[in-house]
Amino acid sequence: MKFKLSWQLVRSYDVTSKAFKPHSALLFLIALHWVADVWKIFLFSRQLLLASSTLTVPPKLRERMSSQDYDFARRQSLVSSTATISSATFHLLVKTFKLYYGYHFYIWQFTVTQAETKFWRAIFYAVFDTLFSRLIALPFNLLVAIMYSNESQIPLAAITIVSVVEIIVATIFTATMIAYLMKVIDDFGPRIFLYFTPLIETIAMVLMAIYIQYFVPQRYSTLENEPTVHDSIKRLTISVGYPSDKVYVDPDFNAAPNAYFIGVLGANMIMISRSLINMLGPQQLTAVVAHELGHWFRYDLIIQLALLVLEESTVSIGVAYSYDSETLVKIFGFGKDKPPAIITLYMWFVYVSPLIFDILDGVSSMIGRLCEFDADDFACNVGLGSELKAALLLMTSKSTAYPIFDPLFSAWYHGHPTIFERVDRIENH
Ligand SMILES: [Zn+2]
Repeated sequence: MKFKLSWQLVRSYDVTSKAFKPHSALLFLIALHWVADVWKIFLFSRQLLLASSTLTVPPKLRERMSSQDYDFARRQSLVSSTATISSATFHLLVKTFKLYYGYHFYIWQFTVTQAETKFWRAIFYAVFDTLFSRLIALPFNLLVAIMYSNESQIPLAAITIVSVVEIIVATIFTATMIAYLMKVIDDFGPRIFLYFTPLIETIAMVLMAIYIQYFVPQRYSTLENEPTVHDSIKRLTISVGYPSDKVYVDPDFNAAPNAYFIGVLGANMIMISRSLINMLGPQQLTAVVAHELGHWFRYDLIIQLALLVLEESTVSIGVAYSYDSETLVKIFGFGKDKPPAIITLYMWFVYVSPLIFDILDGVSSMIGRLCEFDADDFACNVGLGSELKAALLLMTSKSTAYPIFDPLFSAWYHGHPTIFERVDRIENH
């Protein structure tokens, strides 16, 4: 009953009044895309400028990182930022053109000549839209791939074949999804989607908790087999009340040097990779575990979970609102030849959902950044600040990734402070 009311409440926001100006709403939507994409281009430009102007290894990493390694990572970073900026600009222009000049109306009209029933027209619509959007971007994507291939030496013919196969697969996938969704709606009604995402997320969480509680102890060894670090980490975990047998070692030698904490529905684990144990000294490794314990101690994952629930709710509300929405039919200019309900849902996921997710992801990253600082503070409070700093600098210098990030870029996209922000904060603790 509750969901039924929610569905109707959301539906009631569908504007049917004559005073509603679809063209103004369309211009507003285009403006929102410009704001979101210009923000993205701005952040990547900041990162590009920083990498262009930092020609030598920064002082804090100088003893640990060779200038050849630094230079290689810097060139990769420059290519990657340039590619993202060009790609965002290109796609913004294409989106603007499509929305402003009624591209979707023409595609929908074109399907009349291809199929008779609205079921098949909807499938053709999705196929044409996917094909057109991907094919128009193909020359540009090949250009970007050539920029990358200078580094990776992959032949252009291979890149072209892979890109064409990708387009075919994406088109088949979209057509299948549209057909499948229409079938599901036919059988169960559109409200099924209100339950769908929360249900999948709940199942995923329960499975994850079962995995941590019952499968991880079978599959991974504990610190009992690590004589060099066992005592110091055990002492630390006992002092903060975390069960020391919930710290595991990933034996895979090829796994990147890393440590992470996961806590779901009361099931907790800290996983340390074998390569990290080999890289760091015992006290440095203990400091990294202290950082992970900080995430556990401060319930950071609950904040992440709350954000996930918020994201899921926006998906459900979006589905309830956009399905068969008169407002969207008018905004996207479909005219009197009204498309089936699934098409307004499709338009929502192509043009509105990404805007909401851009904001939610950015906010979630900003909060994640604060959690990282908090976890570092926790390690400092248990007296392991200088070891954590040494471990962070060592891990950064051994990584093949470019080590320098613009703080705003890092905050919005990585959910992590930059390494230098973290080191400065630890030094001032
Ligand atoms: Zn962390």
